[in-house]
This record gives sequence, structure tokens and C-alpha cells, in this order.
Amino acid sequence: MRVPPNLPGWHGTPVKASLETMTGLPVRCANDANAVTLGEWLHGAGKGCRNLFCLTLGTGVGGGAVVEGRLLLGANHAAGELGHSVIFGNGLECRCGGRGCVERYLGADYLVHRARQRVKAQIRRITSHRNQMAMFGGKGEGPSLLAEFVGRRSSGLTPREIGRAARAKDKLALSVVEETGQYLGLGLVNVVTLLDPERIVVGGGVSGLGRPLLRAVKKTVESRVQLFSGRRLEIVSARLGNDAGIVGASRLAGYLPAGLN
Ligand SMILES: [Zn+2]
Repeated sequence: MRVPPNLPGWHGTPVKASLETMTGLPVRCANDANAVTLGEWLHGAGKGCRNLFCLTLGTGVGGGAVVEGRLLLGANHAAGELGHSVIFGNGLECRCGGRGCVERYLGADYLVHRARQRVKAQIRRITSHRNQMAMFGGKGEGPSLLAEFVGRRSSGLTPREIGRAARAKDKLALSVVEETGQYLGLGLVNVVTLLDPERIVVGGGVSGLGRPLLRAVKKTVESRVQLFSGRRLEIVSARLGNDAGIVGASRLAGYLPAGLN
């Protein structure tokens, strides 16, 4: 393991060698996003594709690509890292040391943080509006469904609640999800431009944001990529859920060369 930004203390850990010593068996290793890609490609939402991009939205944003029927590894087994591709040149600092990375705007932590900020601002607005209304009469803005989570510890609010509120057409939750979809869409515009996949599979915990997220992603991609007549490009939800990485790992022996980590 080289420099995993979301796994402090694991830098430089020789995973393959350690497991081989422990088990006495040959071991193949891949990062989780590549294992997920393999799983979804061979057994899930990417079945039958020759050109596929698969991403997982969770604490971090992982990505993997299948190009012309082969898992794309790159010279350092670091290909497909959508999470650290840059969408804002001078954007927020990322844990990888860079700036403006996709992951910085899509990770679960940031999503929850942004939703909380919006809810707090809304509560302030409603409170001041109510004070005015008390003087002049009339109806004001109602609070978001997410308001009940704010004020508690941040662990009370997760992408799941944001997704649920968005599906219930809560305006504030919808705006957070749509913004997230736009950021992800921008990252994917670059993927589509570079790799021309026929299908993009979106999975991971944050993808629990569901249809509103996928809708916003599609809208951004469709408005930014070159849409020529007959272009094949689908954006779909993953099928294997949390099992995707395990299913993919079970197939690594057939898809990763033996000599590599
Ligand atoms: Zn980064």
C-alpha cells in the first residue's frame, strides 16, 4: 500500500508480502475500487461491457476502468483514480495534498458538512423571517426534514438521511444532492472525454442518494460532453452493493498478472 489518503498509518504497508507469509499462498492485491470494478463488470451492472467506468462514492471516491475488455491498471496500478482528479484549479485542500479534487466535494464527510451548514443557515433565516412575520402576519418558509439532525453530533446525519429527504422532495436536501451530482458530473465529463466508456456504474454509500443524484450527474454530463448522433453512453446504479469488492477480489487471480503487487 503506497500513500492511501484515507488510511493513516497504512502508508508503505506490504500487504501482499504479509498475506503470503501468513498463508503460504500466492496473493493478488488490488485497491478496493479496482476490485469493485471487476465485480460489477463480471457479475453486476457492467456485465457485457468492453469499455466501462465504475466509481464508488464513500468516505473517499474511488474509480476503476475497463478499457477494450481489460481492467486498466496503469504503470503504477494507480489508474482510474477519479477521486483525485481536479475539478477546481484553486479549490479546497484535499487529504492527498492537492487542491480542488473531486473527492473533496463528494466525500461523505463533506456532504454531511454542507447539508448541516445549509440547515443552520435556513434555521437562522426562518427565525429572523418569523420575527418579521410576527409583526406583519403571513406564512414563512418551513424547515427542512434534515433540521432534526442538526444540533446533534454530526454522526446523526449521514448521506442516507440526506438521500431519504431528497426523495421525499425536501428542497434543501435536493439542492445539496443536485450540487453533489454536478461536481461528480464534472469529474465524469473528463472520464468520458478521455476513455469513452459505454457505461458508467455508480456505487458506494453516497450513491444511496439515489435517483436525484443520478439525475443531476446525467444532466451535467449530457450538457458538457460532445453528444454526437448514436453516442453510446449510459450512467447506471451499481448492482452488487457492499459485496462488489469481495466478488471482484474473488476474480483477481484471473485478471491481475502474478508478478505485480
Ligand atoms: Zn485529492
